Amino acid sequence: MKKLLFLVLFISININSQTNYPKNYFSNPLNIELILNGNFGESRPSHFHSGIDFKTQFKEGLDVFSSADGYVSRISIKHGGFGKALYINHPNGYTSVYGHLKKFNKKIEDYIKRLQYNKKTYQIEHYLKKDVLKINKNEKIANSGNTGSSFGPHLHYEIRLTKNQKALNPQLFGLDIKDTRNPTISSVFLYNLDSLDNISDPIKLKIKKINDSLYQSEKVFTNGKVGFGISGFDRQDLANNKNGIYKYSTYYNNNKIIDFNFESFYFEESIKIKTLIDYKYYIKNKSRIIKLFKDKGNDLSIYLNNKSGYIDVENNSSIYKIIVSDLKGNKSIVKIPIIQNDLINDSLKKIKLFSSNKYINNKLDYNFKFENAEINIAKNTFLKDIQLNIESFKDSIKIINSEIAVFKNIKINFLNKNKRKGNYLALKDKDGNESFASANLNSKNYFYHKTKSLGTYFVKNDSIPPSIKLNNFKNNDWISNKNFIRINIMDKETDIKNYKVKINGKWTLFEYEYKRNELFYEFDSYFLNQTENLIEVFIEDLAGNKTQKNFTFFKN
Ligand SMILES: [Zn+2]
Repeated sequence: MKKLLFLVLFISININSQTNYPKNYFSNPLNIELILNGNFGESRPSHFHSGIDFKTQFKEGLDVFSSADGYVSRISIKHGGFGKALYINHPNGYTSVYGHLKKFNKKIEDYIKRLQYNKKTYQIEHYLKKDVLKINKNEKIANSGNTGSSFGPHLHYEIRLTKNQKALNPQLFGLDIKDTRNPTISSVFLYNLDSLDNISDPIKLKIKKINDSLYQSEKVFTNGKVGFGISGFDRQDLANNKNGIYKYSTYYNNNKIIDFNFESFYFEESIKIKTLIDYKYYIKNKSRIIKLFKDKGNDLSIYLNNKSGYIDVENNSSIYKIIVSDLKGNKSIVKIPIIQNDLINDSLKKIKLFSSNKYINNKLDYNFKFENAEINIAKNTFLKDIQLNIESFKDSIKIINSEIAVFKNIKINFLNKNKRKGNYLALKDKDGNESFASANLNSKNYFYHKTKSLGTYFVKNDSIPPSIKLNNFKNNDWISNKNFIRINIMDKETDIKNYKVKINGKWTLFEYEYKRNELFYEFDSYFLNQTENLIEVFIEDLAGNKTQKNFTFFKN
C-alpha cells in the first residue's frame, strides 16, 4: 500500500510541476535592464517564437555578453532568419543562442572571416568542436544588431537543451524582468460542434471587465459539445508592447479541462502553431484566436494533460472559466455562464462545410496528373482527412481550401510552355497577391516546387534585370577617408538570388542587407590596395536575369 501511494504521488508531481531549471546560472546578456520586445512561444506566421527578444534602446551596437562559461558550438550567418547568430554550449547541458547580431568579437570575427574568404561566401553555417573558441561567462561576444529577419534593432536570445535542441523559455532561468501587470483579454469565442465533430465558425462573446483581473462574459445558450477560443496579450512593466500570454487553463464547473503553457517545445513541432490557432480565422482576418481545445491530430507537447478541451454542456446552468497567467503569476480570469438550451440543434449551429472536388485521406499518398501539371500530396500532409479543390486550367492550376493548414510540403510540377527567358512559377493567393514560387526546371521542362502555400500556380515572366548603383561615392572618386563601400542592388519583380563582388580581381566579403537593398563592405585585412582599384559587381534575380557593372575607386 505504501508503495502504491508513493507511485501515485510521484506521477502527480511529474505531471503538475515544471522542471527545476537552474535560476542563477545564466546572466543578463546585455548590460542594460532587460525589457522584452517579444517573448517565448508567441505566435508567428508559421512557428512559435523560440526565444525572447530584448530591446536594445532602439539602436544597434550594444555589447552582448555570454550568459555563462562555455564554447562557441555554432556560427550561423544568413540573409534571413537570425542573421548573424552565435550558439554557445555550456557544461550544464544547455546552449544559449544570440541572434540578429551586427558583429562578433574580434576572436570570433577573425575566425569566421577566414572561413568566409576560403569558401567565398557570406552566408555560412559552421559547427565547432569544444576547444576551438572557448568563452567565459560575461565575456563580450558580439554587438547587437538588426541582421536577418529582424525589423528593428533587438537581441534575440534563446536557451536550448543541447542534446536535442529543445527550445526552453529563457524566463524560467531567473532573468529578472519586471512584471506586475495582469494579462489582457481582448476577446472570447464560442465554437459549436455538430454530431459529426465538424466545428462552427467562432462566435464572439460579449465580455465586460469587472476589475483588474476579472472579466464576465454574456450568458451562452447552447447544448451538446462546445469549445472556446481566446485572444489576448501580456504586457510587462517597462514597456507597452503586446507580448504573448504564458499559460492557459480552463475549468468547467471547477473541473480542470485544458491546461497548457509555453515552457518548452521542439523545433519540429513549431509548424503546428497552425493547429493551436484558429487557422481559418487567421487566414481570413490576419488576427489570431488561441483555441482552448485540440483539433484531431494535434500532438503538440505544450499540453499538461490529455484532455481534448471540449466540454459537453450539462445541467441547466453551469460555469466555464478561463484563467490566463504570465510567468510572474499575474492572472486574468474570464467567467462564462452557460445555459443549456435544447432548442438549438445542428442546423442552427451554422456549420458551413467547404465544398470541394477531392477528398484526401490523410493516410494515403496522392499523385494528380493533368495536361500541364502534376501534384504530389504525401500522407500526413494534413492532420486529418480533408477536402481539397484541385482544378486544372489552360494556363494555371488551382489548389485551394482556405480553411486548412498544410503541415508537409506539397510537390507541384508545372509545364514551362513557351520557354521564354525569365519565366518562373508564380503563386496567386486568395487575395489576388502574386509572388515568386520557383524558377527550377527539371529535364522535362517543368517547373518544380515544394510548398505549404495553397492558391493558383501559373507561369509568369520577369524580363527586367536587377539594378546596381554605388551608394556612398561615385565612380572614379578618391575614397581614402572612407572605411566602407555601400552598393544598392534591387530587383523590381522577383528578388536578388545571387551576388558576387570582386575587388582587383579577388572575391570580397560583401554583406547583403535585403531590408536596405544594400551590399556592404568594410575594408578589412584581406583588401590589397593598389591606389586605382576595380570593383566588379555581379547580381542575378530569382528569374535568372543577370546584371554586371564595374566601378573604379582610388585610395591611398
Ligand atoms: Zn526573436
